[in-house]
Amino acid sequence: MNNSKENKKVLLLKYGEVVMKGLNRGYFESLIVKRAKEMLKKAEGNFSLEYAQSTLYISGDEDADIDEAFSILKKLFGIATICIGYQCDKNMDAISACVKENIRSLVGKAKTFKCESKRSNKSFPLKSPEISAEVGGVILDSTHNLQVDVKNPDVTIFVEVREKYAYVHNGGEKGLGGMPSGSAGKGLLLLSGGIDSPVAGFMMSKRGISVDCVYFESPPYTSDNAKQKVIDLASKLAEYNGSLYLNCISVTEIQEQLMKHCDNKLFTVLLRRFMMRLALKHALRIGAQLLITGESIGQVASQTVPAMAVTDAIATIPVIRPCAGLDKEEIVKISRAIGSFDISVLPYDDCCTVFTPKHPNTRPTLEGVLAEEAKLDVEGLVERAFETRTVMEIKP
Ligand code: ATP
Ligand code: MG
Repeated sequence: MNNSKENKKVLLLKYGEVVMKGLNRGYFESLIVKRAKEMLKKAEGNFSLEYAQSTLYISGDEDADIDEAFSILKKLFGIATICIGYQCDKNMDAISACVKENIRSLVGKAKTFKCESKRSNKSFPLKSPEISAEVGGVILDSTHNLQVDVKNPDVTIFVEVREKYAYVHNGGEKGLGGMPSGSAGKGLLLLSGGIDSPVAGFMMSKRGISVDCVYFESPPYTSDNAKQKVIDLASKLAEYNGSLYLNCISVTEIQEQLMKHCDNKLFTVLLRRFMMRLALKHALRIGAQLLITGESIGQVASQTVPAMAVTDAIATIPVIRPCAGLDKEEIVKISRAIGSFDISVLPYDDCCTVFTPKHPNTRPTLEGVLAEEAKLDVEGLVERAFETRTVMEIKP
């Protein structure tokens, strides 16, 4: 909760890459603010947001829980650093009092510190080094065992004197980085219940792609639990991406036809091509400009470059595989950091695992695959599968 009226607890979010965006900067900033406002609806109280000097200043009303807002906004793309700070009147008495009152949370367990000051308001009577010297003195007077170290301090206390107020903070934490949601267009993620595809979705969302999802199920071979797992993964993704649509399409008939008529060694790549057709059909409808999968080169026998080439021959829009160059360990690390890992490892069957051949062809050719598809009514299968599509809105 907020402390005394004079020293208000606020959040300072420093923008990342968008600062370098020249003429488009205003557009990127407006997207960050819009998304921040959406996210803050989940926190207790009402918040007001103000932008100045590459920083978003967020303050709340009496009911506002700034600590909760801090945890929520750690998931906001486009932010380089995020910190809790203290707002006070812009005179040295108020600044010193504010530092004293909040000294514990500002210095934490640090043993050494330095002060850095900035003043955008040049009418302020002290210059930046003078502010730092005075605040440094206040800190030394109000603590024991804390020493100045200007070269390699445990903590830096920042004083920012702005137009209306002054702010004191300790630099806070690294933000999530990336670009604001929706700034780079729309993509459709092929979301399975595994570890990789949620990470792939997160990575593209982080680059500003607004992500929608498509999940291929095969009832009765796959269970409601498997579907719930995908819904939970989509919800996790929505915490970063914002609300999204999850489309579920049944590929049961396609899989049964593949089992019945086609070379089992090509089952996975044939199924993947059907998934591509269905995903592409939906992507074109919703105006998505790219497809996203969680494939990683060489991770399993079906994820080879020839297999990807044969799959991509279907697509008329780019297919992006952000995990392609990552090891499993690296993917797992991101998965844990974003909170999808514990959901992904729940043991429910995916439509791919139900029929997967033991020895898939790792070097499929387009001719070979086309010969197999000639045995099927490809168009009819796609039409009927697409008709099974259901859609749900997933809110964070
Ligand atoms: P993941 O961990 O994402 O499931 P995986 O390593 O298990 O990946 P595959 O099962 O071969 O790999 O799937 C490769 C990619 O194909 C997935 O990352 C996903 O993008 C897509 N995919 C596979 N199965 C489905 C499905 N049932 N619904 C939607 N997309 C799928
Ligand atoms: Mg999988």
